[in-house]
Amino acid sequence: MKSHLNADLHCHSVFSDGTLMPEELALRAKANGVQLWALTDHDEVSGQSCASAAALAIGLDYLTGVEISVTFLGRTVHIVGLGFEADHPALCQGLQQTRCGRSRRALEMSDDLKRAGIAGAYEGALKYAGNLDLISRTHFARFMVETGVCQDTSEVFRKYLTPDKPGFVEHRWATIKDAVTWIREAGGVAVIAHPARYKFSANEEFALFSEFMGHGGLGVEVITGSHSHAEAVVYANLAMELGLAASCGSDFHSPTESRLDLGSLPGLPEKLTPVWTLLNDRILR
Ligand code: AMP
Ligand code: MN
Ligand code: MN
Ligand code: MN
Repeated sequence: MKSHLNADLHCHSVFSDGTLMPEELALRAKANGVQLWALTDHDEVSGQSCASAAALAIGLDYLTGVEISVTFLGRTVHIVGLGFEADHPALCQGLQQTRCGRSRRALEMSDDLKRAGIAGAYEGALKYAGNLDLISRTHFARFMVETGVCQDTSEVFRKYLTPDKPGFVEHRWATIKDAVTWIREAGGVAVIAHPARYKFSANEEFALFSEFMGHGGLGVEVITGSHSHAEAVVYANLAMELGLAASCGSDFHSPTESRLDLGSLPGLPEKLTPVWTLLNDRILR
């Protein structure tokens, strides 16, 4: 048996590295049958007022959202926050700090790509970044497709911009404790995004979940555009074992780049506690 609510609680707009406006995403979500939606831009909540207004105007229930970049055991992990107050000072200040390092990292990425024979990447990526504070690897990937270095963005992430490949620059983001605390203080629920993506060993993954739960993290993404069916089963079982609530989201970025469209996810397995049941009084209707 599947959960009957079509919830999509993870996607990106031009306020981070998506290609659509929040209003366009709201319409697309509604048209695709989504019943509960959250926009979760990377390290940024400036799109939240547009997203919630657009959703409510078309009768689509809404939860505030964000996807925070953190560093754990030397790797980048993403923590999704849901149902928080978007203007909460501690959260806004923390996100502002998190965004600060991006332009310097982008210049270093560009220098490294230049050494690999790819010139003008910083300026090229900047053209795609609607929000200059949020210049991301995705914007570099779009530039490299535009200039014919690669056929598509997934080829870019296979050959460039990832550890040990040209254009990758080590970066220290926030800590797990910071991200979970900012979300909690703002009244929201913290969720580990797409856990299968991190390729941690069993011990490292145990450490990640322990640290996250120790600081009051309550959820994990089980169904996501980044998980295969087998991976969803693994994390459904882990959610049960650890008593975590389960979340689901397409991680939609663009009509031409994303594997899954908004609203096209299978339902959460019925044995799980959907994360929105912890957020009943935070849903905007
Ligand atoms: P950043 O926050 O600048 O490190 O960029 C991370 C973003 O790059 C992610 O949110 C995805 O949108 C994109 N990304 C990372 N890895 C991949 C991949 N293997 N394939 C496609 N997009 C990816
Ligand atoms: Mn992204
Ligand atoms: Mn992510
Ligand atoms: Mn995402």
